[in-house]
Amino acid sequence: MRIDERASPNHNDRRGRPLDLLVLHYTGMTSATAALERLCDPAAEVSAHYLVEEDGRVWRLVPDERRAWHAGRSHWAGESDVNARSIGVEIVNPGHEFGYRDFPPEQIEAVIELCLDLIRRHRIPARRVLGHSDVAPLRKQDPGERFPWPALAAAGIGLWPPPLPLLVPDEAQARADLAAFGYGYLEEDFAAVVAAVQRHFRRGRVDGRLDGETAAIARWLAGQTGSDRGR
Ligand SMILES: [Zn+2]
Repeated sequence: MRIDERASPNHNDRRGRPLDLLVLHYTGMTSATAALERLCDPAAEVSAHYLVEEDGRVWRLVPDERRAWHAGRSHWAGESDVNARSIGVEIVNPGHEFGYRDFPPEQIEAVIELCLDLIRRHRIPARRVLGHSDVAPLRKQDPGERFPWPALAAAGIGLWPPPLPLLVPDEAQARADLAAFGYGYLEEDFAAVVAAVQRHFRRGRVDGRLDGETAAIARWLAGQTGSDRGR
């Protein structure tokens, strides 16, 4: 695929950590131009490896082998340096703050093509394809409940649960299930983590309440340890 280059200075060494996470974001800014400028501004100290515009144009800002600064304070499966282990992809959308809207089909096609290439080249397991809100559920909502995770999963990127029988909600069980899948911050704010699970894996209702469907999804996610191999 065609990728345009625009070098961001905001990166450093991965210090030997394995690259085995893919973290998707929305930019949450009013325009792609503003987002590109911020991600390349040394004073901002933020970046991502790639940015995908709404028309499908793809930019590379940081080489894959370098540690880009996209996840901030975050946690996944025992790792608190998510940046060291991940590729970060910024997807242009104004986000919840500036008029959250659907992601255009051209943009999602480009995201799928880019992510397929990344998970193949870096052997990123399906269960380690995440949203920023999954790794930072107390601070972040992106890429949000409008992001078409089912379309990505259908293309072979990440997980999507099949229809599941409802469970009687059991908070202790759900905590154990979500921790087993990789979620952190369960002690700090359980409802915020439940909302992150819903934002990614249910989308229809994001209310932070552990209902029978969310409990079933948590149970299913905890069982996805076998898909630990990249494609
Ligand atoms: Zn983000």
